[in-house]
Amino acid sequence: PLLAKRGQINIDNNQDNIKAYYVPVERPEHIQAQRIQLPVYAEEQQIMEAISENPVVVLSGETGSGKTTQVPQFLLEAGYGDASSTNPGIIGITQPRRVAAISMAHRVAEELGNFGHTVAHQVRFDTTVSNTTRVKFMTEGVLLRELANDLLLTKYSVIIADEAHERSLNTDILLGVLSRVVRLRMKLSTENPEKHRPLRLIIMSATLRVDDFVKNPRLFKVPPPVINVQSRQHPVRVHFNRRTPAPGQHVSEAIRKVAKIHRRLPDGGILVFLTGQAEITYMCRQLQKQFPTVSDASFASGKPGTANGMQTHVEDEDIDIGDCDAFTDDNELHDDFGSDSEEEEDIVVGGSDDTDDKSIAEERQLLLSENLKTAVDSDEIRPLHVLPLYSMLPAEQQLKVFAPPPPGSRLCVVATNVAETSITIPGIRYVVDAGMVKEKAYDSQTQVQSFEVGWTSQASANQRMGRAGRTGPGHCYRLFSSAVFNDQFTLFSEPEVLRMPIEGVVLQMKAMNMDNVTNFPFPTPPRREALQKSERLLTWLGALDAKGRVTDLGRLMAVFPVAPRFAKMLIIGQQHDCLPYVIAIVAALSVGDPFIKEFNIGSDMSEGVDSLSFEEEVAVSEARNLTNAEMAAKEQRRAQRHKYWDMQAKLAGADPTSDILKWLTAIGAFEYSGGSDDVCQQYFVRFKAMNEIRKLRRQLTTLVQMYCPGANVSMDPQMPPPTQLQQSVLRQIILAGFMDQVAIRGDIAGYHNPDGDAATKRRGLHAEPYMTMWSDEPVYIHPESSIYIAARNIGMPQAIVYSELQRTSRLWAKAVTVVTPKWLATIGQPLCTFGNPLTYPLPKYNDARDEMTCYVEPRFGPRSWL
Ligand code: ADP
Ligand code: MG
Repeated sequence: PLLAKRGQINIDNNQDNIKAYYVPVERPEHIQAQRIQLPVYAEEQQIMEAISENPVVVLSGETGSGKTTQVPQFLLEAGYGDASSTNPGIIGITQPRRVAAISMAHRVAEELGNFGHTVAHQVRFDTTVSNTTRVKFMTEGVLLRELANDLLLTKYSVIIADEAHERSLNTDILLGVLSRVVRLRMKLSTENPEKHRPLRLIIMSATLRVDDFVKNPRLFKVPPPVINVQSRQHPVRVHFNRRTPAPGQHVSEAIRKVAKIHRRLPDGGILVFLTGQAEITYMCRQLQKQFPTVSDASFASGKPGTANGMQTHVEDEDIDIGDCDAFTDDNELHDDFGSDSEEEEDIVVGGSDDTDDKSIAEERQLLLSENLKTAVDSDEIRPLHVLPLYSMLPAEQQLKVFAPPPPGSRLCVVATNVAETSITIPGIRYVVDAGMVKEKAYDSQTQVQSFEVGWTSQASANQRMGRAGRTGPGHCYRLFSSAVFNDQFTLFSEPEVLRMPIEGVVLQMKAMNMDNVTNFPFPTPPRREALQKSERLLTWLGALDAKGRVTDLGRLMAVFPVAPRFAKMLIIGQQHDCLPYVIAIVAALSVGDPFIKEFNIGSDMSEGVDSLSFEEEVAVSEARNLTNAEMAAKEQRRAQRHKYWDMQAKLAGADPTSDILKWLTAIGAFEYSGGSDDVCQQYFVRFKAMNEIRKLRRQLTTLVQMYCPGANVSMDPQMPPPTQLQQSVLRQIILAGFMDQVAIRGDIAGYHNPDGDAATKRRGLHAEPYMTMWSDEPVYIHPESSIYIAARNIGMPQAIVYSELQRTSRLWAKAVTVVTPKWLATIGQPLCTFGNPLTYPLPKYNDARDEMTCYVEPRFGPRSWL
């Protein structure tokens, strides 16, 4: 495309300022009309001046003020990314979430009209980057990987680190590295201005604590300027529940509240915050049952598992949905915006003004004058247009939330905290907040990683509340009491770097030659202990030498966009033609358990609740009085569940030795039978997961071909089943990746079972305790594991490796693989030997001995396995 003459001056009629447009963007009229409404738009001059005068700028502003969509456009218009300008490098924007990277790139392309083709996105499996790209939206992981190859980021003239307040692990690492890259580029550009240009860094965040970045001399010696974008936030009235619902009741409470809002209150979208896909799916279905929809075919479709991209077959009885008709009290009907004296306490928050009665009165007046039709006046209830929003939802389903709801209906979006700051849904007036969040939690003592549902922070609850005040005065219904909010909510969420295993980023840093990780300018430094643990694991895996420097193997491992242990598995996978299987296994481990869990007992609504035995489940439900229709539905689910377990048994094989090999069989079978959505139904696997596994396999295959000399592996997703020998090799490769996650049966490891597990026996479950190297607390094979099921006949194996531990009432080992104790001495050698200086040869499988060998004969130290 032709560029306008440089220096051409336009007068912007909407503002009093004069801007130099380098790039003649012609935007669609309706887009331009929307843009000029955005608070960020009014600040263009100030923002651009700050950026041109400072290497680092922090931009904070209310969610929805236009930061993500507008700032890249300002830069583009100012000539950034234009090869013939003084800032030829492209504009990079990082996002913590894939969803946001893709949908924001779409939106900005749309807004840029004739320059739309200059916008691209790049996420792990998917890129639209081409040689016309000047604005690149990407996930943080993508940029971190680019940094490993080009520490100077020579391709870029500016990096926008968006959503920095989320404090994801990658954001923190990225900011640490970028603070150094900015300094380096600055130095080089003063020394050699012909060859180097400075790199600009813009840190964007919602209106949350930015001091960790700004007042942090480790990160930036000179504190960067902070621009606060003021936005027109309307007052939001906060209604706390008087009583906090009992644990597990928040979904039914949310359903009740939405039903009530829809019946009673004037027009305006409803946004509900829940914790995860299962809850969201359940709630959407309940709301659709209660309220008519505008003949939305995708919802009405009877096809199980695919309606609106959601998985169905939720166990209805898991949740007490409460009695939605209990709200027909006449007094309430006539007091639409009054406090529900019985159950709510009200507070008005936000807005430009104070929070006194006057603003409430004004608000009421405003609402009255709008003369909005309320559902109360007519017997007929308007349709409710219910949409789910969570990260596993296909992209095109996610984009639906931006479209206006069908005429005459009310929008109701049921979302995870993706709608908290990354995605702004238009037209929201009511927020219903369960106040909870599902977060990855990690116990560095036991190495237990799990998803835990808990209260969110005050800061994030306030963000959620703010979503109601975007278009006009709004209401936020908090399904918990103000006492809980004040006493039990932390002020801010804890940065991820304090919560997550960090061996991946430690390896990345070491591969960038940052040997002394403790000196790294973390916005919040990780715990010493976590750093030590990571370095130790990396040493065991052979990625670091005894002095903590990266080895050749470590450098090679850093190339793969997977956890270090998986990278190790890939690198040793090249024997006995196992590589295609190892790639598939690593892809599956990275994507996560592909099986649909909803057929499964108890695990659906409540990851975190012990699985009941099938018999137990039947007994529980039979004890209830069920109607015939309920019985029929139950019967159908039971049949479905039987099919599920039959399929699991079939996939696990006659002599199950590994849940991960079961995953492999599912992948193989899926690819052989065409890889369609229907095939997924047949195997009870998630279509989206299978697609991601396929994409990751392709990507890993390419990388293996590039970096592992001699690797001869085909791109064909179809592969024959592994032979017996290959299966044995694969289990040993899995062991090599998880050598620190071995568990030995309690009786062999000398564990004294205090009460013989009486409780377990009473429940008809047979469970053997297993010991790990991490603590004296036993772990148990999860009852869903094929190993557990097979053990009914062949007994519990002596040694296993688990790829995941989950803590509920006890520690459950999941995704289990049976290993032979004699393998441990060789493959787990770094854990078994001590004394002699270690070398880290890659394990090689030895036919004669039916095991992998290392070159150093093991000697057992105090921490030995056997
Ligand atoms: P911020 O980054 O400050 O939170 P954004 O730039 O994401 O703000 O959003 C600015 C506005 O653009 C919001 O009102 C949002 O609703 C709108 N918007 C973003 N994406 C889309 C889309 N795909 N379709 C329609 N509107 C959108
Ligand atoms: Mg944003």
